[in-house]
Amino acid sequence: MSTHYRGRFAPSPTGPLHFGSLVSALASYLDAKKHHGDWIVRIEDVDGTRCKTLFSEQILNTLNSYQLFSDETVRVQSNHTETYEHYLSILKTQERVFPCNCTRQSLSKYQGFHPHQCNSTINEPHSWRLKASDIIYSYHDPIQGKLTFVEDLKNTCPILKRKDDYFSYQLAVVVDDHQQSITHLVRGADLIDTTAQQLHLYSLFGWNAPNLCHIPLITNNMGEKISKQNHAKPIINGDLPTLLRALYYLKIDLDAVTTISQALNLAIQSWEPNKLKGIQHLRLEEQDHYFI
Ligand code: GLU
Repeated sequence: MSTHYRGRFAPSPTGPLHFGSLVSALASYLDAKKHHGDWIVRIEDVDGTRCKTLFSEQILNTLNSYQLFSDETVRVQSNHTETYEHYLSILKTQERVFPCNCTRQSLSKYQGFHPHQCNSTINEPHSWRLKASDIIYSYHDPIQGKLTFVEDLKNTCPILKRKDDYFSYQLAVVVDDHQQSITHLVRGADLIDTTAQQLHLYSLFGWNAPNLCHIPLITNNMGEKISKQNHAKPIINGDLPTLLRALYYLKIDLDAVTTISQALNLAIQSWEPNKLKGIQHLRLEEQDHYFI
């Protein structure tokens, strides 16, 4: 793997950028720039039923308005389906995946998880699922400490390609991070749940996994992630006070700054993931409730 730091921010364009996503974008940007690395933006729009081009444009405009510029051309996942098909075919040859005709209804008796096998065929509409595994993955997260995934691969078989032909985030994210030579992922703690499956895919393809770091998730008073699903508002473009509040949740307190570029430069110097050690959730403070 390349030793030159390459980080990325990979939003799914299911809505405009909200406060929680700005915090994630900043964390990945600051970490990359602190290491004199590249920071790359990728649009994760494999789910054609939920993602919209309009939101991709809005997200990129908002990032630019905060002077968060991708160091390379923005990669758009929906332009790379042939690549995902190629890597899925490798897993088919290795017999690591199986076709599945199960429906949400037929899986309800397993609480939505998928049992190890099913009697599905490729003669009916089917998805492709990754086989379960007993392997236990573990890694050291600079913020969350040592994470060990004991049950994650045993109890379910994630979909890699859906019945409606869309590829899943799990396959696309691993293929893209590998193809783009990403060395460091800095992302929200909600994605810890996806990590074991991604480490497993890296291992099946024989690739080195990037270094992983999960920042605290910004939540509302109910402890829920600020997200489009619970109506987080779009943030205002290029707004210094918004930027300063987002930095505050990354334990960077700046006063007396007058421009966005000044704030970013100082934030790069002040960024210290250690200050967030052990924190998985950060509740939005009362004064910031206008972001949701
Ligand atoms: N596209 C994912 C999301 O918006 C993030 C993927 C990642 O950082 O691994 O939640």
